[in-house]
Amino acid sequence: MVCGCGECSIDSHAVHHTFTRCSPGISVSSVNGIFLLDNVQYRIHLNTFRRVNSMGHKMLDDSSAELSASAKAKKRGNRTDERIHSEIYSAIINHQLRPATPLHEDALANAFGVSRTIIRKVLQQLSHEKLVELIPNKGAIVARPSIEEARQVFEARRAVECMLVEKLAATISNADIDRLRTVVNAEAKSLEQGDKRRRLQLSGDFHRELASIAGNDVLRDFVNELVSRTSLIIALYESPGAVPCSYDEHKEIVEALERRNVETVVKRMEDHLRHIEAQVDLSDLPARVDFKTLFRPLTPAT
Ligand SMILES: [Zn+2]
Repeated sequence: MVCGCGECSIDSHAVHHTFTRCSPGISVSSVNGIFLLDNVQYRIHLNTFRRVNSMGHKMLDDSSAELSASAKAKKRGNRTDERIHSEIYSAIINHQLRPATPLHEDALANAFGVSRTIIRKVLQQLSHEKLVELIPNKGAIVARPSIEEARQVFEARRAVECMLVEKLAATISNADIDRLRTVVNAEAKSLEQGDKRRRLQLSGDFHRELASIAGNDVLRDFVNELVSRTSLIIALYESPGAVPCSYDEHKEIVEALERRNVETVVKRMEDHLRHIEAQVDLSDLPARVDFKTLFRPLTPAT
């Protein structure tokens, strides 16, 4: 099954693009394991829900789809972009590519076996997502969030995610609570298995899932970006592979949501985000050194 819109790149071969759910109000059906959305199309991108089309598109069977050759070529191109984006994105948020790592277009084009044009397009996309920094005349590097930027990211997360759980405490369904429990249980399992990379991924997924359930696309995209940027901040200001989210705290947030206790859930989320921030050492701002207090003029040698 493929989407017949000619703009997106969803098909049954794209393992990264498995549909699993959509926002409330959008109907979903499943054909051969592929979930089709009637109105708006979403795909999972490293467990992040991303809207690919704002317009409704019908899903067509590949054999009956009357797609033009150019539309098909465009779709193939998009699939390549998406796959490369997905792999680089994953390597960054899983700390395989550390902040400030150079991302040479030639080397990446070679590694993926594609043109530099495709790599450049993907790097620009990652730059929009604040995961890559494009330096004029030098090229791309993995972004290096400053301490001030890190503080702002945590401040924004507290504001947005506390507001989201406050809203969710009044509106969340039992099915959505089950979805959150599934993530938390998977976190517990990855902890038991000592799988740090999986834990890191799932810890972000918990927050993405909350934002997705809340049903506000703008806030969901914002939280997705903030969670990814937090991952970079952790990579930069804490030891590689560190998992700052506490599985127990996620569990407490779900329990408070289940009790529909607004005050408790907001407090739990705020405490949780403050605990994450506290694990990142943002205290050692490079001091503005007054060299006159540090050094004295040399006296002429006698
Ligand atoms: Zn967390």
